[in-house]
Amino acid sequence: MVDIHCHLLPLVDDGPSSVEHALQLAEQAVEEGITRIIATPHLYHPQFETGDIDVPLTVAELNVLLKQRDIPLTVYPGHEVRLIGELIEEMEAGVALPLAASRYILIEFPSTGIPSYARQVFAELISDGHIPIIAHPEKNKAIIQNPQLLFDLISNGAISQVTCASLIGKYGKDVQRFAVALLENGLAHLVASDAHHTTKRPFYWEQCRKFLSEKLEDWLYEEIYENNEAVLLNQLVTINPPNPVEKNWKGQWV
Ligand code: FE
Repeated sequence: MVDIHCHLLPLVDDGPSSVEHALQLAEQAVEEGITRIIATPHLYHPQFETGDIDVPLTVAELNVLLKQRDIPLTVYPGHEVRLIGELIEEMEAGVALPLAASRYILIEFPSTGIPSYARQVFAELISDGHIPIIAHPEKNKAIIQNPQLLFDLISNGAISQVTCASLIGKYGKDVQRFAVALLENGLAHLVASDAHHTTKRPFYWEQCRKFLSEKLEDWLYEEIYENNEAVLLNQLVTINPPNPVEKNWKGQWV
């Protein structure tokens, strides 16, 4: 199975604080059934200075260690990019990395809102042949308050990724229901771990798979995990027509 969003590289951001911790996190990935994983350290995040990190080299070094330890996991390079106005230029300069050298780029908004220039940057990316993936929209306060913001971005060619921890209820029932509603309404297309740490922020991969296999219709469940694979292989993900998501009279997301 393919995980497209994970903070696996050691000593880079808020992921593993040592090489040993990174290898332990990799072992946990394998135990949970993941065979290929895209390392997505933060880029342009205000809390982490990661611009000087050579991600492809660090990934290559980690892959050597994984082979030496007989841990059957292959790591690919990527970034989780805080949206900035000059993203296209930074991608062209090779600073901001797409996922596994594909057409897909993982983009994070500040947790409280969506920058006013998001639509403009997304339009530039898409017209240049890239596909923006919005990371964990279910945790973004502006999107929770007004899901139309996400609907507009998805309707204009972006896709999105919800997080295993959200889907199994680690951020509460409301976020959980919202994440499921996004998947069911064509507003989220991928599921990833966003794992950082073996105990504080683990994969929750198997738990999430079990939950979704019971919760979603079979075709949608299969489609989501095939989409994860499609991103890694630079193939087109399957997209369903988006529907607006809203709260019903009980205040539950539908
Ligand atoms: Fe992340």
